[in-house]
Amino acid sequence: MSGIVCAIGLRNAGVHVEIFEQAVNQVFMMTSFQEVGAGVGLGPNALFPLKELGVLDAVLSKSDEEKPTMRSFRYISATGAHDLIYDVTSSLFHPSNVLIICQPSFLEAIVPMLDPRLVHMEKRCISVSALSSGSHVIHFADGSTYEADLVIGADGIKSVIREFVTGRPTSLVYSNSVAYRSVVSPEALKGVKTDMMRPLCWIGKDKHIISYPVQANQKVRSFYISEADSFNSGKMNLVFFSTDSSVPMGSVDVPLPWAKPASQDELLHEFSEAGWGEDTKLILKEMKDPSKWYLHLLHPSLTSYVRQRVVLVGDAAHAMLPHLGAGAGQGMEDVYALCSLLGDARAQKCHLDDALKAYDSIRVARANMVQTMSTIAGNIYEKRGPGGGTNAQLREQLKAIYHPVWHHDLKEEVKRAVASVYGPRGVL
Ligand SMILES: Cc1cc2nc3c(=O)[nH]c(=O)nc-3n(C[C@H](O)[C@H](O)[C@H](O)COP(=O)(O)OP(=O)(O)OC[C@H]3O[C@@H](n4cnc5c(N)ncnc54)[C@H](O)[C@@H]3O)c2cc1C
Repeated sequence: MSGIVCAIGLRNAGVHVEIFEQAVNQVFMMTSFQEVGAGVGLGPNALFPLKELGVLDAVLSKSDEEKPTMRSFRYISATGAHDLIYDVTSSLFHPSNVLIICQPSFLEAIVPMLDPRLVHMEKRCISVSALSSGSHVIHFADGSTYEADLVIGADGIKSVIREFVTGRPTSLVYSNSVAYRSVVSPEALKGVKTDMMRPLCWIGKDKHIISYPVQANQKVRSFYISEADSFNSGKMNLVFFSTDSSVPMGSVDVPLPWAKPASQDELLHEFSEAGWGEDTKLILKEMKDPSKWYLHLLHPSLTSYVRQRVVLVGDAAHAMLPHLGAGAGQGMEDVYALCSLLGDARAQKCHLDDALKAYDSIRVARANMVQTMSTIAGNIYEKRGPGGGTNAQLREQLKAIYHPVWHHDLKEEVKRAVASVYGPRGVL
């Protein structure tokens, strides 16, 4: 997602860009997200870069929603009588609109904005090497190479280019959390007394459940949904998260693939402890043929996203857990910062190193903070949060988790970074 938006932003600023993608073709690239039923909720911090980079209208045209809307998530107890713990709609101080879009739809919106002559499919990068001139060479699996003034690594969570930047194989680790996902018909959940037409996070010890309705004929979506969609829904999307908190993060290796089919027995075994509320038990019974997904993240966080003239954006730089739905948004912030710095009208090749330094100086702290917050959010949803696990303690922590992600003055921050390289003047 971030690589294509970055290419569009740079091209609009007059920078020559060539794109290398490992997928065989664009259809394959779009379908590769389906393995985990991926979709994204883009908050205000992600919508601003999309607007500034000139892609928001195209993205809106492919979204199931006409415009971003207020999210309406409710947090309830997965145990006992399913007490309400926190209601985002009624409690959120700042209105925060979120646009919901499936990742394939997002790509469908933006890929046509690229000049196809600059897109090279079936080019799997296997390494990057430096030349004494300061340029870098990208090496591909088919034996070909490409020499570039600047390499932007937007190659996702399993980034190869990250290895050049960090100088070591990878710091991607298993989070000790798995997610089981099923799509269930609402009729099967008729016995459930909790109002499931609102998106819910069901909180339990070392386990939580995300549930939300999906409209009939609608593509599978992210963890967020707007209030307008709460009616006439066709299916219920259910994701059960379970964490082994007895072992340190990074101590368990999971072989690929990280997303695969699972049996209902396995899920029931994972959730076999006593204490679940009646509705949780009813929902569990309907989780037939779930898919299982091992959640990974970059841990520890990178201390720099830049080495020489190679720079990382998106998950390549800061792959995080999905609990705040913030990964794509951070990628969009990266891209806005990089396009503003590299696309400034005064930019010349001699500014490249300073521009990358300025990018690193603002993006590492910000994106790593959101990455950490995403881990903390998962801990809060499973009663391991730093502020404790009683309902009152959970409520206090939940109140604070979204604001720093969604409300950040990126424009001002980037303006200062641009001024530090070129002197005070405009920003994209
Ligand atoms: C289930 C789920 C729900 C999510 N919900 C949200 C949400 O609500 N909000 C949010 O902001 N984020 C969400 N995220 C996170 C978001 O999807 C990611 O942060 C985002 O897709 C990362 O974008 P990216 O461009 O960095 O990487 P990707 O989108 O993964 O793109 C990487 C690209 O690089 C290509 N590539 C990889 N390796 C190579 C190589 N060696 N050579 C050439 N090409 C290569 C890939 O084929 C791909 O096209 C969610 C993630 C998941 C899994």
